[in-house]
Amino acid sequence: MKRVEGKTAVVTGGALGIGRAISILLAREGARVAVTDIRDEEGQEVAEEIRGFGGRAQYWRVDTTEEKVVSRVFAEIAEEFGSLDVLVNNAGIAGVNKPPHEITLEEWEKVISVNVSGVFLCTKYAVPFMKQAGGGSIINLSSIYGLVGAADLPPYHASKGAVRLMSKNDALFYARDMIRVNSIHPGFIWTPLVEELGKETPEGVEAFREQLGSRHPLGHVGEPDDIAYGALYLASDESRFVTGSELVIDGGYTAQ
Ligand code: NAP
Repeated sequence: MKRVEGKTAVVTGGALGIGRAISILLAREGARVAVTDIRDEEGQEVAEEIRGFGGRAQYWRVDTTEEKVVSRVFAEIAEEFGSLDVLVNNAGIAGVNKPPHEITLEEWEKVISVNVSGVFLCTKYAVPFMKQAGGGSIINLSSIYGLVGAADLPPYHASKGAVRLMSKNDALFYARDMIRVNSIHPGFIWTPLVEELGKETPEGVEAFREQLGSRHPLGHVGEPDDIAYGALYLASDESRFVTGSELVIDGGYTAQ
């Protein structure tokens, strides 16, 4: 028996990086996976890769900040796959990296819109299907930046702190419905998002990667699969007594 056999999982931001790794691993472990993103080409490729190894997956375009789209597509997914059991709220952006007093309200609200309101909207439209099914698992991607400060990316820190506490509060709201809600807190994981941050630095991408790695006691940055295995555990019934918790996967970053 595979670890998430028979479950339907929706992964937001599933085309690249951590979301891509989660989509592929959940499918390898038996889930039907709805890969959703705003990057259609890369999203289609992930769904094709999954079908290529005999898994079940389909791509849908979902901008998580668009309520009507989230509502319509989640209903389509439940119809197509017969249920909606797991939601991975993974879509996120880094946003501007400036001191707070230099940030415009527009720049601030963009990050909050994707990283916080997107999680709210996807949760809102997944919960009714989970209630119908008698339970479910919602996995929210927060960050080490939702636990500690680093004097960079101000709106990102605020957004990931919000996701941490939304997860706990939602866990309490839906515990009676057997819907579990947990957050994952990755350290730096080498994905397109982080590579883009590296491109903005004067020292260049490779030096940036090394310097980031040295901030983690294990001595290197993580890989998307390091997070995917955590998400697999939280998606599966192995974590049936786990809700409102924080799964920190950070190479020791926050242990210091
Ligand atoms: P990534 O490589 O940028 O992939 C994220 C995907 O989500 C991209 O395809 C992105 O498209 C998409 N996306 C952005 N806004 C969206 C929206 N409104 N609706 C739907 N899709 C959207 O990011 P990642 O590094 O894998 O990060 C995934 C999650 O983990 C994020 O929530 C991030 O904050 C969190 N996280 C990452 C790290 C890390 O070190 N990588 C550490 C801690 C937490 P575009 O490329 O067009 O924006």
